[in-house]
Amino acid sequence: MLQTVSKAFFHILAGSKTLKRTASRYGMRPRGFARRFIAGESVEEAIEAARQIEAAGLLVTLDHLGEAVGSVAEADAATRAYIGLLDRIASAGIERNVSLKLTQLGLTVDRATCVDNLRRILDAATAKSFFVRIDMEDSPYTAVTLEIFETIWQLGYRNAGVVLQSCVRRSEEDAAHMNALGARVRLVKGAYKEPTKVAFQAKSDVDAAFLRIMKVLLMGGHYPAIATHDSAMIAATRAYAAERAVAPSAFEFQMLYGIRRDLQASLARDGFRLRVYVPFGREWFPYFMRRLGERPANATFVLRSLLSERRA
Ligand SMILES: Cc1cc2nc3c(=O)[nH]c(=O)nc-3n(C[C@H](O)[C@H](O)[C@H](O)COP(=O)(O)OP(=O)(O)OC[C@H]3O[C@@H](n4cnc5c(N)ncnc54)[C@H](O)[C@@H]3O)c2cc1C
Repeated sequence: MLQTVSKAFFHILAGSKTLKRTASRYGMRPRGFARRFIAGESVEEAIEAARQIEAAGLLVTLDHLGEAVGSVAEADAATRAYIGLLDRIASAGIERNVSLKLTQLGLTVDRATCVDNLRRILDAATAKSFFVRIDMEDSPYTAVTLEIFETIWQLGYRNAGVVLQSCVRRSEEDAAHMNALGARVRLVKGAYKEPTKVAFQAKSDVDAAFLRIMKVLLMGGHYPAIATHDSAMIAATRAYAAERAVAPSAFEFQMLYGIRRDLQASLARDGFRLRVYVPFGREWFPYFMRRLGERPANATFVLRSLLSERRA
Protein backbone atom coordinates (compact mmCIF):
# COMPACT_ATOMS: atom_id res chain seq x y z
CA MET A 1 0.00 0.00 0.00
CA LEU A 2 2.73 2.44 1.09
CA GLN A 3 4.71 1.53 -2.02
CA THR A 4 1.71 2.21 -4.31
CA VAL A 5 1.14 5.66 -2.75
CA SER A 6 4.85 6.42 -2.92
CA LYS A 7 5.09 5.45 -6.61
CA ALA A 8 2.08 7.66 -7.40
CA PHE A 9 3.51 10.61 -5.43
CA PHE A 10 6.92 10.45 -7.11
CA HIS A 11 5.24 9.97 -10.49
CA ILE A 12 3.49 13.34 -9.96
CA LEU A 13 6.73 14.98 -8.81
CA ALA A 14 8.52 13.59 -11.88
CA GLY A 15 6.29 15.86 -13.99
CA SER A 16 7.45 19.03 -12.21
CA LYS A 17 9.65 21.18 -14.43
CA THR A 18 10.87 23.27 -11.45
CA LEU A 19 11.96 20.19 -9.55
CA LYS A 20 13.67 18.83 -12.66
CA ARG A 21 15.55 22.12 -13.13
CA THR A 22 16.70 22.20 -9.49
CA ALA A 23 17.64 18.52 -9.44
CA SER A 24 19.52 18.81 -12.73
CA ARG A 25 21.51 21.71 -11.32
CA TYR A 26 22.73 19.89 -8.20
CA GLY A 27 22.20 16.16 -8.70
CA MET A 28 25.19 15.26 -10.85
CA ARG A 29 27.82 17.53 -9.32
CA PRO A 30 30.95 15.62 -8.25
CA ARG A 31 29.33 14.37 -5.04
CA GLY A 32 25.73 15.10 -6.06
CA PHE A 33 22.84 13.04 -4.68
CA ALA A 34 21.90 11.47 -8.04
CA ARG A 35 25.35 9.89 -8.43
CA ARG A 36 24.32 7.12 -6.11
CA PHE A 37 21.99 5.76 -8.83
CA ILE A 38 23.39 7.23 -12.07
CA ALA A 39 26.90 6.51 -13.30
CA GLY A 40 27.36 9.96 -14.86
CA GLU A 41 26.15 12.15 -17.68
CA SER A 42 28.85 11.14 -20.18
CA VAL A 43 29.73 7.87 -21.94
CA GLU A 44 33.25 8.10 -20.43
CA GLU A 45 31.85 8.08 -16.89
CA ALA A 46 29.58 5.13 -17.68
CA ILE A 47 32.46 3.15 -19.19
CA GLU A 48 34.64 3.90 -16.16
CA ALA A 49 31.84 2.70 -13.83
CA ALA A 50 31.43 -0.44 -15.96
CA ARG A 51 35.15 -1.17 -15.79
CA GLN A 52 35.05 -1.01 -11.99
CA ILE A 53 32.03 -3.29 -11.86
CA GLU A 54 33.68 -5.80 -14.19
CA ALA A 55 36.88 -5.67 -12.12
CA ALA A 56 34.77 -6.82 -9.16
CA GLY A 57 33.70 -9.90 -11.16
CA LEU A 58 30.21 -8.65 -12.13
CA LEU A 59 28.56 -8.23 -15.55
CA VAL A 60 27.14 -4.99 -16.97
CA THR A 61 24.48 -3.58 -19.25
CA LEU A 62 24.67 0.12 -20.17
CA ASP A 63 21.58 2.27 -20.57
CA HIS A 64 21.77 5.69 -22.20
CA LEU A 65 18.89 7.27 -20.30
CA GLY A 66 16.03 8.84 -22.18
CA GLU A 67 12.33 8.19 -22.74
CA ALA A 68 9.19 9.59 -24.30
CA VAL A 69 10.87 11.72 -26.95
CA GLY A 70 8.47 14.14 -28.64
CA SER A 71 9.63 14.22 -32.28
CA VAL A 72 11.10 12.14 -35.09
CA ALA A 73 14.27 14.28 -34.90
CA GLU A 74 14.75 13.51 -31.19
CA ALA A 75 14.16 9.81 -31.82
CA ASP A 76 16.75 9.90 -34.59
CA ALA A 77 19.24 11.63 -32.28
CA ALA A 78 18.68 8.97 -29.59
CA THR A 79 19.17 6.23 -32.19
CA ARG A 80 22.42 7.76 -33.40
CA ALA A 81 23.58 8.15 -29.80
CA TYR A 82 22.97 4.42 -29.23
CA ILE A 83 24.86 3.42 -32.37
CA GLY A 84 27.73 5.66 -31.22
CA LEU A 85 27.56 4.04 -27.79
CA LEU A 86 28.04 0.59 -29.35
CA ASP A 87 31.27 1.83 -30.98
CA ARG A 88 32.52 3.32 -27.72
CA ILE A 89 31.78 0.14 -25.76
CA ALA A 90 33.44 -2.03 -28.39
CA SER A 91 36.62 0.05 -28.39
CA ALA A 92 36.66 0.24 -24.58
CA GLY A 93 36.65 -3.56 -24.45
CA ILE A 94 33.88 -3.87 -21.86
CA GLU A 95 31.00 -6.31 -22.21
CA ARG A 96 28.78 -5.75 -25.24
CA ASN A 97 25.38 -5.44 -23.64
CA VAL A 98 22.97 -2.46 -23.67
CA SER A 99 19.40 -1.72 -22.56
CA LEU A 100 17.03 0.78 -24.20
CA LYS A 101 13.45 2.03 -24.17
CA LEU A 102 11.17 2.13 -27.21
CA THR A 103 9.65 5.52 -26.32
CA GLN A 104 13.22 6.83 -26.59
CA LEU A 105 13.25 5.63 -30.21
CA GLY A 106 9.98 7.38 -31.06
CA LEU A 107 7.24 4.93 -30.06
CA THR A 108 4.91 7.72 -28.97
CA VAL A 109 5.59 9.70 -32.16
CA ASP A 110 5.27 7.07 -34.87
CA ARG A 111 5.41 3.30 -34.48
CA ALA A 112 6.99 2.63 -37.90
CA THR A 113 9.78 5.13 -37.19
CA CYS A 114 10.40 3.45 -33.85
CA VAL A 115 10.71 0.01 -35.50
CA ASP A 116 13.09 1.45 -38.14
CA ASN A 117 15.23 3.02 -35.41
CA LEU A 118 15.29 -0.21 -33.42
CA ARG A 119 16.38 -2.10 -36.53
CA ARG A 120 19.18 0.42 -37.16
CA ILE A 121 20.48 -0.25 -33.65
CA LEU A 122 20.02 -4.02 -33.93
CA ASP A 123 21.87 -4.11 -37.26
CA ALA A 124 24.82 -2.28 -35.72
CA ALA A 125 24.56 -4.50 -32.64
CA THR A 126 24.52 -7.69 -34.72
CA ALA A 127 27.63 -6.61 -36.63
CA LYS A 128 29.45 -6.15 -33.32
CA SER A 129 27.93 -9.09 -31.38
CA PHE A 130 25.98 -7.02 -28.85
CA PHE A 131 22.96 -8.09 -26.86
CA VAL A 132 20.17 -5.48 -26.70
CA ARG A 133 17.56 -5.59 -23.94
CA ILE A 134 14.31 -3.75 -24.63
CA ASP A 135 13.16 -2.35 -21.26
CA MET A 136 9.46 -2.46 -20.39
CA GLU A 137 7.73 0.86 -19.75
CA ASP A 138 4.31 1.61 -18.26
CA SER A 139 1.25 -0.41 -19.22
CA PRO A 140 -0.01 1.68 -22.18
CA TYR A 141 3.15 0.35 -23.91
CA THR A 142 3.09 -3.29 -22.77
CA ALA A 143 1.26 -4.79 -25.75
CA VAL A 144 2.97 -2.64 -28.39
CA THR A 145 6.43 -3.31 -26.91
CA LEU A 146 5.85 -7.06 -27.05
CA GLU A 147 4.40 -6.80 -30.57
CA ILE A 148 7.42 -4.86 -31.81
CA PHE A 149 9.70 -7.37 -30.12
CA GLU A 150 7.92 -10.19 -31.91
CA THR A 151 8.18 -8.34 -35.23
CA ILE A 152 11.95 -8.03 -34.96
CA TRP A 153 12.16 -11.63 -33.76
CA GLN A 154 10.25 -12.78 -36.88
CA LEU A 155 12.67 -10.67 -38.95
CA GLY A 156 15.44 -12.86 -37.58
CA TYR A 157 17.05 -10.67 -34.92
CA ARG A 158 18.17 -13.00 -32.14
CA ASN A 159 20.38 -10.57 -30.23
CA ALA A 160 17.47 -8.90 -28.43
CA GLY A 161 15.42 -9.69 -25.35
CA VAL A 162 12.42 -8.30 -23.48
CA VAL A 163 11.37 -7.45 -19.92
CA LEU A 164 8.22 -8.70 -18.15
CA GLN A 165 6.83 -7.09 -14.98
CA SER A 166 5.32 -9.39 -12.35
CA CYS A 167 2.89 -6.66 -11.25
CA VAL A 168 1.25 -6.77 -14.70
CA ARG A 169 -1.50 -9.39 -14.74
CA ARG A 170 -0.83 -10.63 -18.30
CA SER A 171 2.90 -11.29 -17.69
CA GLU A 172 2.55 -14.95 -16.69
CA GLU A 173 0.98 -15.72 -20.05
CA ASP A 174 3.57 -13.55 -21.83
CA ALA A 175 6.36 -15.48 -20.11
CA ALA A 176 5.05 -18.79 -21.43
CA HIS A 177 4.75 -17.24 -24.90
CA MET A 178 8.31 -15.84 -24.81
CA ASN A 179 9.58 -19.26 -23.70
CA ALA A 180 7.84 -20.87 -26.69
CA LEU A 181 9.36 -18.25 -28.99
CA GLY A 182 12.84 -18.93 -27.60
CA ALA A 183 13.34 -15.34 -26.41
CA ARG A 184 15.37 -14.14 -23.44
CA VAL A 185 13.31 -12.49 -20.69
CA ARG A 186 14.31 -10.22 -17.82
CA LEU A 187 11.82 -10.55 -14.95
CA VAL A 188 11.21 -7.47 -12.76
CA LYS A 189 8.45 -6.44 -10.34
CA GLY A 190 7.60 -3.25 -12.28
CA ALA A 191 8.58 0.35 -11.57
CA TYR A 192 5.43 2.25 -12.59
CA LYS A 193 2.20 3.22 -10.91
CA GLU A 194 -0.40 1.10 -12.71
CA PRO A 195 -4.21 0.84 -12.61
CA THR A 196 -5.83 -2.10 -10.79
CA LYS A 197 -7.35 -3.36 -14.03
CA VAL A 198 -3.96 -4.23 -15.50
CA ALA A 199 -1.75 -4.72 -12.45
CA PHE A 200 -1.64 -6.24 -8.98
CA GLN A 201 -1.46 -3.55 -6.31
CA ALA A 202 -0.53 -5.47 -3.14
CA LYS A 203 3.17 -6.27 -2.66
CA SER A 204 2.22 -9.83 -1.65
CA ASP A 205 0.44 -10.36 -5.01
CA VAL A 206 3.33 -8.84 -6.99
CA ASP A 207 5.80 -11.06 -5.11
CA ALA A 208 3.67 -14.20 -5.56
CA ALA A 209 3.45 -13.51 -9.32
CA PHE A 210 7.22 -12.88 -9.43
CA LEU A 211 7.83 -16.33 -7.94
CA ARG A 212 5.39 -18.04 -10.32
CA ILE A 213 6.98 -16.39 -13.37
CA MET A 214 10.49 -17.06 -12.08
CA LYS A 215 9.63 -20.79 -12.06
CA VAL A 216 8.16 -20.63 -15.59
CA LEU A 217 11.35 -18.95 -16.82
CA LEU A 218 13.79 -21.16 -14.97
CA MET A 219 12.14 -24.34 -16.24
CA GLY A 220 11.22 -23.39 -19.81
CA GLY A 221 13.05 -20.15 -20.54
CA HIS A 222 16.20 -19.20 -22.42
CA TYR A 223 18.90 -17.82 -20.13
CA PRO A 224 16.41 -15.71 -18.11
CA ALA A 225 17.43 -12.76 -15.95
CA ILE A 226 15.93 -12.51 -12.47
CA ALA A 227 16.18 -8.78 -11.74
CA THR A 228 15.45 -7.83 -8.14
CA HIS A 229 17.07 -6.55 -4.94
CA ASP A 230 14.57 -8.44 -2.81
CA SER A 231 16.48 -11.01 -0.76
CA ALA A 232 13.32 -13.16 -0.37
CA MET A 233 12.90 -13.39 -4.19
CA ILE A 234 16.59 -14.17 -4.57
CA ALA A 235 16.56 -16.87 -1.88
CA ALA A 236 13.48 -18.47 -3.47
CA THR A 237 15.14 -18.41 -6.91
CA ARG A 238 18.29 -20.02 -5.55
CA ALA A 239 16.28 -22.70 -3.72
CA TYR A 240 14.14 -23.48 -6.79
CA ALA A 241 17.18 -23.66 -9.10
CA ALA A 242 18.91 -26.05 -6.66
CA GLU A 243 15.78 -28.20 -6.28
CA ARG A 244 15.31 -28.48 -10.06
CA ALA A 245 19.04 -28.82 -10.83
CA VAL A 246 19.12 -25.64 -12.91
CA ALA A 247 22.81 -24.73 -13.24
CA PRO A 248 23.91 -21.24 -12.08
CA SER A 249 25.19 -20.71 -15.65
CA ALA A 250 21.66 -21.18 -17.07
CA PHE A 251 20.34 -17.87 -15.72
CA GLU A 252 21.55 -14.62 -14.19
CA PHE A 253 20.56 -12.21 -11.46
CA GLN A 254 20.43 -8.49 -12.23
CA MET A 255 20.42 -5.40 -10.01
CA LEU A 256 20.51 -1.65 -10.53
CA TYR A 257 23.63 0.48 -10.21
CA GLY A 258 24.10 1.68 -6.64
CA ILE A 259 21.46 -0.57 -5.05
CA ARG A 260 22.29 -3.43 -2.66
CA ARG A 261 25.97 -3.58 -3.61
CA ASP A 262 26.46 -5.93 -0.64
CA LEU A 263 24.02 -8.42 -2.12
CA GLN A 264 25.54 -8.01 -5.60
CA ALA A 265 28.98 -8.95 -4.26
CA SER A 266 27.74 -11.86 -2.15
CA LEU A 267 25.85 -13.45 -5.06
CA ALA A 268 28.96 -13.23 -7.24
CA ARG A 269 31.02 -14.76 -4.41
CA ASP A 270 28.55 -17.63 -4.25
CA GLY A 271 29.15 -18.38 -7.94
CA PHE A 272 26.09 -16.72 -9.49
CA ARG A 273 26.12 -14.41 -12.49
CA LEU A 274 25.18 -10.90 -11.46
CA ARG A 275 24.62 -8.15 -14.01
CA VAL A 276 24.53 -4.49 -12.98
CA TYR A 277 22.33 -2.12 -14.96
CA VAL A 278 24.42 1.02 -15.45
CA PRO A 279 22.32 4.07 -16.38
CA PHE A 280 23.95 7.27 -17.60
CA GLY A 281 23.19 10.41 -19.59
CA ARG A 282 21.70 13.84 -19.19
CA GLU A 283 18.07 12.66 -19.13
CA TRP A 284 18.35 10.97 -15.73
CA PHE A 285 15.51 12.72 -13.86
CA PRO A 286 12.55 10.31 -14.56
CA TYR A 287 14.73 7.25 -13.84
CA PHE A 288 15.96 8.87 -10.65
CA MET A 289 12.41 9.67 -9.50
CA ARG A 290 11.35 6.04 -10.00
CA ARG A 291 14.19 4.97 -7.68
CA LEU A 292 12.96 7.42 -5.04
CA GLY A 293 9.39 6.14 -5.42
CA GLU A 294 10.52 2.58 -4.72
CA ARG A 295 12.06 3.53 -1.41
CA PRO A 296 10.82 6.74 0.23
CA ALA A 297 13.83 6.63 2.61
CA ASN A 298 15.94 7.61 -0.41
CA ALA A 299 14.10 10.94 -0.56
CA THR A 300 15.29 11.91 2.93
CA PHE A 301 18.87 11.35 1.86
CA VAL A 302 18.32 13.47 -1.27
CA LEU A 303 16.65 16.30 0.64
CA ARG A 304 19.49 16.41 3.16
CA SER A 305 22.16 16.62 0.47
CA LEU A 306 20.12 19.15 -1.54
CA LEU A 307 19.82 21.43 1.49
CA SER A 308 23.53 21.23 2.26
CA GLU A 309 24.37 21.82 -1.44
CA ARG A 310 22.26 24.98 -1.50
CA ARG A 311 23.90 26.25 1.67
CA ALA A 312 27.38 25.66 0.23
C1 LIG B 1 18.41 -4.80 -13.79
C2 LIG B 1 17.05 -4.22 -13.61
C3 LIG B 1 16.34 -3.78 -14.71
C4 LIG B 1 15.06 -3.24 -14.56
N1 LIG B 1 14.32 -2.94 -15.67
C5 LIG B 1 13.03 -2.55 -15.52
C6 LIG B 1 12.19 -2.37 -16.64
O1 LIG B 1 12.57 -2.55 -17.80
N2 LIG B 1 10.90 -1.98 -16.41
C7 LIG B 1 10.41 -1.78 -15.14
O2 LIG B 1 9.23 -1.45 -14.98
N3 LIG B 1 11.21 -1.94 -14.07
C8 LIG B 1 12.49 -2.31 -14.23
N4 LIG B 1 13.27 -2.50 -13.11
C9 LIG B 1 12.80 -2.01 -11.78
C10 LIG B 1 11.93 -3.02 -11.08
O3 LIG B 1 10.70 -3.14 -11.74
C11 LIG B 1 11.67 -2.60 -9.63
O4 LIG B 1 11.00 -1.37 -9.62
C12 LIG B 1 12.92 -2.46 -8.77
O5 LIG B 1 13.84 -3.45 -9.07
C13 LIG B 1 12.56 -2.55 -7.26
O6 LIG B 1 11.95 -3.77 -6.99
P1 LIG B 1 12.68 -5.01 -6.24
O7 LIG B 1 12.47 -6.23 -7.07
O8 LIG B 1 14.08 -4.69 -5.97
O9 LIG B 1 11.82 -5.25 -4.94
P2 LIG B 1 11.28 -4.29 -3.80
O10 LIG B 1 10.30 -5.12 -3.04
O11 LIG B 1 10.82 -3.00 -4.36
O12 LIG B 1 12.57 -4.01 -2.93
C14 LIG B 1 13.25 -5.02 -2.22
C15 LIG B 1 14.42 -4.41 -1.48
O13 LIG B 1 15.37 -3.92 -2.42
C16 LIG B 1 15.95 -2.70 -2.00
N5 LIG B 1 15.55 -1.63 -2.94
C17 LIG B 1 14.64 -1.73 -3.95
N6 LIG B 1 14.57 -0.57 -4.62
C18 LIG B 1 15.43 0.27 -4.03
C19 LIG B 1 15.80 1.62 -4.27
N7 LIG B 1 15.27 2.34 -5.27
N8 LIG B 1 16.73 2.19 -3.46
C20 LIG B 1 17.30 1.48 -2.46
N9 LIG B 1 16.98 0.20 -2.17
C21 LIG B 1 16.06 -0.40 -2.95
C22 LIG B 1 15.41 -2.45 -0.61
O14 LIG B 1 16.29 -3.04 0.29
C23 LIG B 1 14.08 -3.19 -0.63
O15 LIG B 1 13.63 -3.55 0.65
C24 LIG B 1 14.52 -3.09 -13.25
C25 LIG B 1 15.23 -3.53 -12.15
C26 LIG B 1 16.47 -4.12 -12.30
C27 LIG B 1 17.17 -4.63 -11.09
